[in-house]
This record gives sequence, structure tokens and C-alpha cells, in this order.
Amino acid sequence: MQTPLHLACPRCLTANRVPRERLAEEPKCGKCGAPLLDGAPVALEEAGFDAFIARTDLPVLVDFWAPWCAPCRAMAPAFEQAAAQLRTAVRFIKVNTEEAPRLAARWNIRSIPTLVRFENGSETGRISGAMDAASLVRWATRRGAKAEA
Ligand SMILES: [Zn+2]
Repeated sequence: MQTPLHLACPRCLTANRVPRERLAEEPKCGKCGAPLLDGAPVALEEAGFDAFIARTDLPVLVDFWAPWCAPCRAMAPAFEQAAAQLRTAVRFIKVNTEEAPRLAARWNIRSIPTLVRFENGSETGRISGAMDAASLVRWATRRGAKAEA
């Protein structure tokens, strides 16, 4: 038997245990019933960020963006496309740096969009500038990504 993965619920942040082989079966949160992996990016605020990262065993890709940033807005559809494509492999998170300035400061975000990849709670890579969906998928699924900023 495989070790189950922990997945944070995008709505209530409860850690759910899901067997790896059942990731594609549209798992739902045991507490609130929300879909755990619906393929859409999850918008997180300061309050939920740490809990989500800590309770998620899949790699997490965070898009630090702002509504006034044209390249950020331009990348949004590509980010959604990549999130849908990697639905059961990588969690796609959006952090609005206008609404969560302390998160942006804590992660030392100097330009946007900046993408930061986390695995097991630690940063394993970051890259600045807008990317298309194919590049996002490639970057998100690299093995052993190293910080390169
Ligand atoms: Zn829930």
C-alpha cells in the first residue's frame, strides 16, 4: 500500500489524506465537501498561506501578482491552463500582493509576476516574468528544481 498524500482543502484548509492512486478520482474535503483538486488555481491570503503550504504534499506553485500588473493579467489564462493540465500533480496558488503585502515582503518578491515553487514546505525554485502555459508546465514539473533568483 502506498502512503497517502496530504492535501490542504482550498476552502477550509483542513489536511485531507488521499491515496496517491485516487488523486484522479476528484477527491473531496472530508470536512467541508469542497473539491480538493478541481484544476483551478487557489487564491490564498495571508491567513491561509502557511497552513496550505504545510498541509500539502504535492509541489505548490505560487504566482505572486497584482491587479495593476499587465503581464500578470496576461499570464492568468496560461496559469489556469497549466493548473488544469497538472490538476493531480501540482497545486497552483495565486497571491495578490496588493492584498497580501506581508507575504510578498516575507518571500522577498521584488518584481511581479514572480513564481515560487515549494516542496514539503521549502522553496525549491523561483522565476520572474510571465510565461506561457507550456513553459509553466515544464517549470512546475522539473525535478529537483533549485532556487535561481
Ligand atoms: Zn474543506
